[in-house]
Amino acid sequence: MDKKPKTANYQILWIVLFFMLFGLAFGFCQANSFTIQNINYSELENQIKNNNIRSIAIWNNGRIEGGFINAVQQKIRFRSGIHPSLVADLKNKLDSHSVVIDYPPDNSSGWIGMLFSWLPMLLIVGLWIFFMRRAQGGGGTGGMMSFGKSKARLAPVGQKITFADVAGQEESKEELQEIIEFLKEPKKFQKLGGRIPKGVLLMGPPGVGKTLLARAVAGEASVPFFSISGSEFVEMFVGVGASRVRNLFEQSKKNAPCILFIDEIDAVGRHRSAGIVGGGQEEREQTLNQLLAEMDGFESNEGVIIIGATNQPEVLDLALLRPGRFDRRVVLNKPDVKGREETLKIHTRKIPLDDETKTGLLKIARGTAGFSGADLANLANEAALNAARYNRETVTTADFEFAKDKVLMGGERKSMVISEEEKMTTAVHEAGHALVALFVAKADPLHKVTIIPRGMAMGLTQQLPEEDQHNYSKEYLTCQLAILMGGRCAEKIILKQLTTGASNDIKRTTELAHRMVCEWGMSNLGPQKFIAEEDGLFLGKFMAEKSHGYSELTAQGIDSEVAKLINEAERQAEKILTARIETLNRLVSALKKKEVLNGNEVRQIAGLEL
Ligand code: ADP
Ligand code: ZN
Repeated sequence: MDKKPKTANYQILWIVLFFMLFGLAFGFCQANSFTIQNINYSELENQIKNNNIRSIAIWNNGRIEGGFINAVQQKIRFRSGIHPSLVADLKNKLDSHSVVIDYPPDNSSGWIGMLFSWLPMLLIVGLWIFFMRRAQGGGGTGGMMSFGKSKARLAPVGQKITFADVAGQEESKEELQEIIEFLKEPKKFQKLGGRIPKGVLLMGPPGVGKTLLARAVAGEASVPFFSISGSEFVEMFVGVGASRVRNLFEQSKKNAPCILFIDEIDAVGRHRSAGIVGGGQEEREQTLNQLLAEMDGFESNEGVIIIGATNQPEVLDLALLRPGRFDRRVVLNKPDVKGREETLKIHTRKIPLDDETKTGLLKIARGTAGFSGADLANLANEAALNAARYNRETVTTADFEFAKDKVLMGGERKSMVISEEEKMTTAVHEAGHALVALFVAKADPLHKVTIIPRGMAMGLTQQLPEEDQHNYSKEYLTCQLAILMGGRCAEKIILKQLTTGASNDIKRTTELAHRMVCEWGMSNLGPQKFIAEEDGLFLGKFMAEKSHGYSELTAQGIDSEVAKLINEAERQAEKILTARIETLNRLVSALKKKEVLNGNEVRQIAGLEL
């Protein structure tokens, strides 16, 4: 996963510091030349004659410094010099005009003066070196001389990860079993001459455990695990990528049998025409070619298995997928209910749960459809943190509830000041959603209504499906549209006003209605697909004119069908709400008072049986 440090802020800080120092140094030099006048010896004699010398210091080498009584050309100090043989003569002259002769400051001050005059230069050079080191992204061990060294990391030993740490993904584990056996006993396979894949490509959305699974393979086979991210190959210095690849393969061959894991392999292996044209293209191609050459150049029997991971397999260069390269492919998906429950079990192994939660992980799993493994790990962690914040011994279901909202929407914005009027509007809006959700023909059970602002949302009405659903009926979807319209309708009915709070609802309604018409054939236009096909990645997004492949007349038809669905939904929401104004008002005041109501509380207020 993406773990780039956020250095931008530091860089700005350094740049500011740099300019401040520069300014200071500049000012220092300026200050000198503003106050000190350089004069020649005859001018000095003149000033002595005019009794305009306050004090003077003379070095044995003939250097002279001193101060005027009256400023000359607005400068009160002067600098001059004479031949050492004339020093005695000068001293006599000064005596006769009774000028105070200072002892010259000793040599050390000359040294300090020198340091001061060199300081700005030193600072600039120092900063330059500093920036160069940072620019390499090293900042650490590497230093300037290791451009071409790979930065593969060896996973720390003692942190052995096995399949037991990976929840679900049973099919993937099975597919990787063969590789584990090979890594355990490469000799056996070598004797039989069996062909073992060199490369395995793990594909799946971010956070589903691709890295985790790769590490588990290494753990199961008890071999070293080297990892590097594809984006690290392609850095700012040209030619570095290819040499890094070479270095990487050398390193792993020395440690065979082992696993070499390349995360985000699409950063190097993007097919050659895809993506933005220009910068870095050539560099990446070189790196890719080197990678291909290395993969072809070694025998899998040497005991190095390369595992690549990507979340956009469709952009990969086909050359990478040819036999003898990443010819084994494993797809990882977001976990289903069972997988989520298992993931939660794994990530709560070290967290003390109260009894209700211990046996209720399935319920939490049900409420987290769409979460990836990483999201769930985050959820467990946030729940534990919340319990710790209140010094509780065990983590409760309420902590998980809290954590879920946080993971979904960002932290509670407790400090946000909300006027009474705004609170009222939000309460009416959410009550509208909730009531419609309760009384439409077909909807998921209501889980919770809240008017505590979080992230971007002022409030939230949450429904929980009984189980994961992959297929929705038209009836369910039209009810969904009505629920989305419920918030706005309630505002219209009770407050007689429309606010901007419904903008997200409107967006989602429009999108949903559009898909119903154009993708799922749920309108009078019949079962046709009305979506512009992407004509290849290269042209699709950048240049091609949007040709949608249907007539202008059809376009009008689509618009009117979409409008019809939305109007229908709005009418239905309005009907449900106007028939229950009493209930709606009760719900609004309950929400204003308690801010959060769970599904049963809402059902109670609505007089429904639980
Ligand atoms: P990816 O490489 O697919 O982006 P990671 O392997 O980096 O995802 O997953 C990030 C974290 O999410 C893991 O360290 C682990 O804590 C958690 N995680 C993801 N999938 C699973 C899983 N199937 N079982 C247990 N934990 C998981
Ligand atoms: Zn809303």
